[in-house]
Amino acid sequence: MTSILIRGAALPSGEATDILVADGIVTEVGSGISSAASSVIEASGLTILPGLVDLHTHLREPGFEQSETVLTGSRAAAIGGYTAVFPMANTSPVSDTAGVVEQVMSLGDAHGYVTVRPIGAVTVGLAGQQLSEIGAMAASRAKVRVFSDDGICVSDPLLMRRALEYVKTFDGVIAQHSQDPRLTEGAQMNEGVLSGELGLAGWPAVAEESIIARDVLLAEHVGARLHVCHVSTAGSVDVIRWAKARGIQVTAEVTPHHLLLTEELVRDYDSRFKVNPPLRRNEDVLALRAALADGTIDIVATDHAPHPLESKQCAWDEAANGMVGLESALSVVQASVVDTGLMSFADVARTMSTSPAEIGRLAGYDVPFAVGSSANFVLYDPSVSREFATDQLRGKSLNSPYLGFTLPGRVVATIHNGRPTVLDGELLAPEEVARG
Ligand SMILES: [Zn+2]
Repeated sequence: MTSILIRGAALPSGEATDILVADGIVTEVGSGISSAASSVIEASGLTILPGLVDLHTHLREPGFEQSETVLTGSRAAAIGGYTAVFPMANTSPVSDTAGVVEQVMSLGDAHGYVTVRPIGAVTVGLAGQQLSEIGAMAASRAKVRVFSDDGICVSDPLLMRRALEYVKTFDGVIAQHSQDPRLTEGAQMNEGVLSGELGLAGWPAVAEESIIARDVLLAEHVGARLHVCHVSTAGSVDVIRWAKARGIQVTAEVTPHHLLLTEELVRDYDSRFKVNPPLRRNEDVLALRAALADGTIDIVATDHAPHPLESKQCAWDEAANGMVGLESALSVVQASVVDTGLMSFADVARTMSTSPAEIGRLAGYDVPFAVGSSANFVLYDPSVSREFATDQLRGKSLNSPYLGFTLPGRVVATIHNGRPTVLDGELLAPEEVARG
């Protein structure tokens, strides 16, 4: 029997406690637990959070293994404090059948660093023409509950309606990449004064806001659940706030980079800052932070998007969109909303673990720290800061926007289903973590 005693950790509420874990389950919580646990983690001075859950990750396998694999992405997740990730469907083949989603889930299970719960494609081949085998994926061993064509918007309103009707039958959710394709043809950065100055084609806020407005009305009409991926504008926040006040079943996510970075970074044409949706204005960043703090935006999701060097080291127009984010997410959230006084670590636990698990219908995360619950934790030191460099990355790709930044906090340990994946700030070796 594997047992771990975590001694003296500060709960998100600030109160210090000991936690005893045996066979993957929390067996005792309180101060002064004495036990002959097989290992002890001294955690005084550290904050303990429930294991982080990422509802929006790109693991790239199958098909794009030069960018990331389920193993390397799982390691990037674990070092960032994650214990579960939902990989998007834009793989090759696309995750649009029961076979592919089961394969991705099995790879995650075998590696053991994190729980991998694949997202299924809404349309066959992400082509936006016909619905994929949504029911077969939902009924498969992977029990898919989240469906998305992420990377591409389901722009056809009739297909979107049919998809919402379908997932409603088994309590699934459509996660929409809200981007009107016509309004963003050739778009290279946020549309505004700066795009004019730099001579780059603009990606207007209305291209996101108009799709969200349409989709919340469709969700209301159907009575189904809608999740809005990577909200990036102040206007989108207003639409979602209106929809929630009306009782529409809509949830929304914001990425760490949209909470910290602005379009000003595009000035030097450094393609590490090229992402979709693009970095926006400072007033958008401030609106997104406020919306996360007041619950209009429910969760933080990374949109971890690994790309090999050659896809980024080229002219801005040709560079791929996307940033890696799993390793830096918790630090960026601390910098943008905790250290600015907008949110507590209890709010971080809700927006980075409890709520994403609930939206994705992932069991075991609803009552963290309760006796009998699954032991998924991250031990975090918010008091330190670190120079963020490539030596902090554990995935296969290095396209982080934070290289050279000083970021607060450090993940000291991650526990996945009662077993450590990270100790003393370092990943355990694959053979120590793999499920036999
Ligand atoms: Zn997207």
